[in-house]
Amino acid sequence: MTQKTLPFTKSQIEKIIKEYPTPFHIYDEKGIRENAKKLYKAFSWIEGFKNYFAVKANPNPYLIKIAKEEGMGVDCSSLTELILAEKLGFRDEEIMFSSNETHFREFQKAKQLGAIINLDDISLLSYLEKHAGLPEILCFRYNPGPLREGNRFIGNPKEAKFGMTKKQLFDGCKTARDKGVKRFGLHTMVVSNELDVNAHVETAAMLFDLVVELSKKLGIKFEFVNLGGGIGIPYKPEQKSVDYIFLSKEIKKLYGKKIVENKLNPLRILMENGRLIIGPYGYLVTTVLHKKEIYKNYVGVDACMANLMRPGMYGAYHHETILGKENKPKNYTYDVVGSLCENNDKFAIDRKLPKVEIGDILVIHDTGAHGYSMGFQYNGKLRSAELLLKSDGSIKKIRRAETIDDYFATLDFKGL
Ligand SMILES: *Cc1c(COP(=O)(O)O)cnc(C)c1O
Repeated sequence: MTQKTLPFTKSQIEKIIKEYPTPFHIYDEKGIRENAKKLYKAFSWIEGFKNYFAVKANPNPYLIKIAKEEGMGVDCSSLTELILAEKLGFRDEEIMFSSNETHFREFQKAKQLGAIINLDDISLLSYLEKHAGLPEILCFRYNPGPLREGNRFIGNPKEAKFGMTKKQLFDGCKTARDKGVKRFGLHTMVVSNELDVNAHVETAAMLFDLVVELSKKLGIKFEFVNLGGGIGIPYKPEQKSVDYIFLSKEIKKLYGKKIVENKLNPLRILMENGRLIIGPYGYLVTTVLHKKEIYKNYVGVDACMANLMRPGMYGAYHHETILGKENKPKNYTYDVVGSLCENNDKFAIDRKLPKVEIGDILVIHDTGAHGYSMGFQYNGKLRSAELLLKSDGSIKKIRRAETIDDYFATLDFKGL
C-alpha cells in the first residue's frame, strides 16, 4: 500500500479557495515535469524517442506547453485539437494525427500542418488521396484482432473499431508505396490504462515483428513504430506505476534481436501517452455541502460528474482525501455524490473515510487526464476553473470557470 500524497497543504488550499471557489482542478507542474524527464531518460538510448501527448486527455494549453518544453509532440484526433496544436506552435512531425471515422476537413488540416497522418483504415487511403493528396510520410494503425487480448478499458481488439487487419496493412503499405509514399510508420493501441508492463513489451514485440515482415516483403523502409498510449497509472493505493526503466530495457532487448539483427535500424520508437503524462498530477478540489442519511450514508459535494465523469462512466476508482484528516482512522462508509439528477453521479461508492463534516474540503486524486476534458453541461452544470500549482509554488489560473453566460452563448432567444 503506497500512501497517496498531495503536493499541497490544507492551508494552501484554503487560501486558494478564497480566490477561486470550489470546485476546481489543480495541476502540479513539478510532478508533471519530473515524470516526463524520467520517461525520456529511460528511453534516451533510442535516437529520436518522442511521446506525443494525447491532447484528449487534457487539452489545457498551459499543460500542453509544459509537455512541449519536456520534448513532447502532440497526438490529435480532431480538427479542434489540430488547431489547438497549431496555436501552440506545433508543426510538421511534432503532430501525430491519430483519428478514426475522420472527416476530410480534418485530413486537409493535418496535411496543411505537415502532421504525421496515422490511417485508421485501408479505405482512408483513397479518401485521403482524393481530398488532401497523399503525404510523403504515412503511418498505419494495426488491429491484431484475436491475436491479442486487449484489456478491460479498450476491450478485446476483435471487438474494437480501431485499426486495420494485417492483410489490409500489407495492401495499404503496398498501395501507398506504389503511389509514391516514401516514409512509413506503424501504429497500434491495444490496451488502455494498463499497468502490466508486459502488455506494453508485447506491443513493441508485435510491431517490431511486423516491421521485419513488411520491410522484407514490400521493400519499404519504416522510420518509426508508434506504440500508442495506454500506459496505466496507479489510481488505487495498492497499485504500482509502470517501471520505465524495466520497460525500456525489455524493449531494447527486442529491438536488438528483431530490428538491429535484421539491419532495420535506425527505427524510432514513439508513444502517444496522455493519461501517464498528466493523470496523476491533477486533483479535483471540492467542498462538502450536505450529508444525508437514508438507506445509505451520503456525502454531497459541490463538484459533480460534469467535472469528472470516470467514476460514473466506467465505475473507475479515484482516491479521496479529506484535507486535515489524512491520518484519522477511516471508520465511516459513504457514497460521495454530486448534484446531477442521475444516480451514477457518484465519485465513490461505499468508500471508507474519516468522519466527514459539512464544509470539509475533499480532494479527488488523479484527475489530470479525462477529468476536465470529459466535462459537459448536462443539467445546466458548468465546467470548473483549472489552476496550475507552478514549480515555484505560486498559483496560476489556466482556465476560468464557465459562467451562466457561456451556457447561454449558443442559444438565440430572439427567434422565439
Ligand atoms: C486515447 C488515445 C491515446 C492516449 O491514451 P492514454 O490512455 O491517455 O495514454 C493515444 N492514442 C490514441 C489513438 C488514443 O485514442
